[in-house]
Order: sequence, then structure tokens, then C-alpha cells
Amino acid sequence: MEAAGDIVFRLDAAGRIVSASERTRSLFALQGADATLVALAPEADRAALRAALLDAGAAAQPTRLDVRLHTGSKDVWFDLRLGRLQRSGDAALLVVGRDISAQRDTEERLRHLATHDSLTELPNRLLLSDRIRMVIAHARRSGQNFSVATIGLDGFKKVNDGLGHPVGDAVLRIAAARLRTTLRDSDTLARIGGDEFVAVLPGTCTEAQIKLVTGRLLATLQAPFEVDKHTIYIGASIGLALFPEHAEDEVQLVALADAAMSRAKETGKARCLVYSPRTSSPPEHDISLEAAMFHAVREGEFLLYYQPIVDAPTRRIQGFETLMRWKHPTLGMVPPVRFIPIAETNGLINLLGAWALKAACVQLRQFEEVAKRSLYISVNISPRQFRNDKFLEVLDHALAFSGMSGSQLVLEITEGTLMIDPVHAESILVKMAERQARIAIDDFGTGYSSLAYLKRFPISVLKIDRAFVKDLPDAPKDGAICNAVLDLAKHLGLSVVAEGVETEAQLDYLDQRGCQYIQGYLTGKPMPAHAAMAALREDLYASLMPLEPQAGIR
Ligand code: C2E
Ligand code: CA
Ligand code: CA
Repeated sequence: MEAAGDIVFRLDAAGRIVSASERTRSLFALQGADATLVALAPEADRAALRAALLDAGAAAQPTRLDVRLHTGSKDVWFDLRLGRLQRSGDAALLVVGRDISAQRDTEERLRHLATHDSLTELPNRLLLSDRIRMVIAHARRSGQNFSVATIGLDGFKKVNDGLGHPVGDAVLRIAAARLRTTLRDSDTLARIGGDEFVAVLPGTCTEAQIKLVTGRLLATLQAPFEVDKHTIYIGASIGLALFPEHAEDEVQLVALADAAMSRAKETGKARCLVYSPRTSSPPEHDISLEAAMFHAVREGEFLLYYQPIVDAPTRRIQGFETLMRWKHPTLGMVPPVRFIPIAETNGLINLLGAWALKAACVQLRQFEEVAKRSLYISVNISPRQFRNDKFLEVLDHALAFSGMSGSQLVLEITEGTLMIDPVHAESILVKMAERQARIAIDDFGTGYSSLAYLKRFPISVLKIDRAFVKDLPDAPKDGAICNAVLDLAKHLGLSVVAEGVETEAQLDYLDQRGCQYIQGYLTGKPMPAHAAMAALREDLYASLMPLEPQAGIR
């Protein structure tokens, strides 16, 4: 046995090691008389080992057990055989063991291969089913519901066919890594087909939670993919099904999420749809939104709306955010969350964005004439626009054409825009600063977990995302986040705009904590230019009126 490399122990009835072979002694560094076999096993394996010892003591036949034992430096798997020593006076056991770690490793590797996708190392469909079953069992016990999201890359086939499989593979690997870092550790991410991923999201069930998570997933895939000097734009469509509302087993949940995703692809891509019984029926419009957009540009179907940004204490209008609208002849108003991502993917955003910037600057001059004072205008700049090498030219043209000063312009960009290519971003921002244009970080706090960029880049404004304002003043965590942003801004000398303010209570809360600017339905919805001018006139008259008499003095 010694020659075969096996380990050999003799134990007494209490499991103490009475004797052991030379090799065994040195392997386990056995000294003294009181060592027990159980003590050599890691905590997790001890109960099984104790039970096996009892069995072996009682049974006529030897028992077998695979167990880890702690050797000098690491835990090693052994295949143990435990048997009663027939001719020994007291009940004693002989234990013989063989190192099976190599075999275990191979098994582990095979199991990994069978349950993971070799390209991305993510769980495959097999393991996904297992995981969903576990999450279902947990949900039944704890009442914590969950959702299943199917994520399909848009236009992946074009990449694969046009640039070749190696590039396609690289894109899939990057996409997998981006999705994985966007999700929490407790979420499962699997790849179940060519360009299809599935995420299992415990605790993500309300509309707000779903929006937040899927918004992040969509955004992370919209960022360009740099592979072998190619810059590739793909984006994704997402479908969601909820447990237990839509289905209660793993096959059905994935199938329904898939149906919702197909529907999202049919109706314009780059969006997320939650399953509803209607999602599986044929689409009512079979026009492709993308084709319609090119037509819309030629026909001038795009408009700009303006939403007031007011001073919190006085509620006077300080400026407007420009928000794009698409008035489609039959679909009606198509919201920007549906068409901006498509324009971002196909590059149309450069054209639309240039138009919006110029039109907004011209419009501001007209607003100021009505208001009889200086105002500012805020314009959203998408990542692709920001990276376009013509962007500065577009900006200079808009300023020159309108005769507006750069200091009245705020450009809203997201954290992601800065982080895609920080070196390029820095050089552009410096040139913007030369023109005195200010930079606002839109949806602050939702995009990127690093704050280092606030130090590096010349930024003037933080816009607190609606997600943090929505449940104020009753949500302590949201309150804490708003306070932290306000504090941060104060110390860095930045202004703060709170977005999505809908109630007086929200405005009071923010005002009391020093948030200077407010934007939201409470103080003005996005509106066409003529309505914005009416609001400015009212604002002007209000400022000319004497103060209201104090209550009680009538
Ligand atoms: P955003 O820049 O975060 O714009 C704020 C969004 O919040 C707008 O949605 C606005 O209508 C909405 N909002 C404002 N106040 C409230 C409120 O009190 N309650 C609620 N529930 N919502 C409020 P909208 O107009 O649908 O725009 C959506 C997004 O589309 C914008 O988010 C922006 O990212 C993008 N977008 C809009 N116009 C443009 C544009 O001209 N260029 C670019 N690149 N993106 C644009
Ligand atoms: Ca914005
Ligand atoms: Ca925003």
C-alpha cells in the first residue's frame, strides 16, 4: 500500500489515530497521540466522515467515502475505504485512502465544459435551467420574486458576415463581459445561442427596478465595440418575463421572455419589452422604424420640445432642456427612448443632433427676447455625436449662426460618453471650455461607479437622475444619495439640477437641502416653443407683480 502511494491509518473506537504508515505520517504531519481522522477533514466534510466511521464500525463490509483531507498545504480529495479490523481485540478500524484529486479535477473540468459556453465562459442553457429552478425554489420559500430577461444583440449577423467570425467572437466576448459587470453577483447571466443571452434577476420586479437594470444593459451594449481597429455599433433588444405573474417554470419563463424580445426586435430594436399576452401576437405595424426615420428626416417630422429648468427657491425659469420629438404621421409621437438608440446605431444621430443644436441656439435668442433677460439652453449630446470628429465644427456653426454666446450653452452628456475614450473626451472638453460652453453630467449616478472623472474633466453641472428623485421624500436611501450628490457638488463647485420633480414635497425636500435647480413636470413639462414662450411671458409678469400680501392681512 505504501508503495502504491496510498495512505493508511489505524483508528481506535473513538476515531483517534492509533498508528499510520510512514508516508501518511509525513503527509499529514501527524504528531502526538490524540490526533483524530475527523480533525483532518475540513469543517464541511466532517459530518459525512463521522457517519462513515460509525457505519464502518457497525457493518461487516468496508464503507467507501470521497472526502477532502488537509495535508500540509492544501485540501486533497481522497477515496477512503473504511473497514473493521477482524482480529483486533477492541473495535478498531483500518482506513486506506487514495489521492483522487487529479481525477476530481478532470471531472470538474468536464462538468464545467458541459455546463458552460466555451466562448464566453458563461453558463449555458443546461446550467441556466438549474439556476432558474433554484431561484424558483428560493422565491417560493422567501417570497422574493424575480424576472428573466432575454438579451439579443441587434445586427450581430451583419458583424459576423461582414467582418468575419473572429471579430464576431470577440464582440460576443466583450458583450458577455460588459453584461456580467453590469449585473449584480447574485444575478445569473447565461449564453443560450449565437447572439442571445439570458439574465436571471432576483428581486427585480417593479417597473422602476426593471427600467433601471434594463436601461443599464441596453446602454452597455450601445457603447461602441473596438475590435482590430474596427469600431462596431450593435446595441440590443431585451424581453422580460416575471415570476410568478407570467409563468412558474423555467422553460416557460425563458420562452415568454424570448417572445417579448422578438417583439422588441420587430418593433424597432434597441428597446426592452416586458411580456404581455399581446407580445406574442403578430405586430400591428410592420414598418421598420429605422427605414421610417430616414424618411422622417427628409420630411421634417422631427421637432424640439423645451422643458423649463427653474431656480428652486423662486421657481423662475433659468433655462430649458431641449428634448427631441418625432411626430410620425400614423404612429403619433414616437418617444426619444425608442428612436435615439436607433439613430445612435445607424449614425443618423449626427445629423439629427447637429440640427437640434443649431435649432436650439436659434430658439434661445427668441426666448430671451420674450423674457427680456439672459437664459441658457441645455442640449443632449449622444455618445456617438460627441465622438464624431465634425462635432466641434457643428458646435461652432451653431454658435456663429445664432449669434449666441457659448456661455449660454450647456451640453448634457452621460458618464458613459466620457468613459468610452477618456483621452479623446478630455481634448474635446478642453475645446468646449475655450468656447465657454458648460458640461452637464446627465443621469448622474446611474452610469458609472467611478468619481475620478469629476476631478479630471472640466464639468459644471450634475443632473440627479429621476430614479433618485421619484420616491422622495419617503425613501431614505434615495434621500441619502441626493444628499451625497449635493454635498459632492458643493465641495467641487458644481451646480445641481434635480430631474423628474413631480411633487411639491420633492421640490421642498431638494430645496431645503440646497439643490439649486429643478426640472420636472411640477414646474413644467416638455412643451413646444410657443408654449415655452407663453411660460416665459407669465414668468416675466409674475416678476413684475408686487409681492403677495401676507396671509391674514387682507
Ligand atoms: P433625459 O436627457 O434624461 O431627459 C429627461 C427625460 O425625463 C425626458 O424624457 C423628459 O420628458 C422626462 N421628464 C422630465 N421631467 C419629468 C417628470 O417630472 N417626470 C417624468 N416621469 N419624466 C420627466 P424624454 O423627452 O422622453 O427623453 C428621453 C431621453 O431621450 C432623454 O433623457 C435623452 O437621453 C434622450 N433625448 C431626448 N432628446 C434628445 C436629443 O435631442 N439628443 C439626444 N442625443 N438625446 C435626446
Ligand atoms: Ca438630458
Ligand atoms: Ca436625465
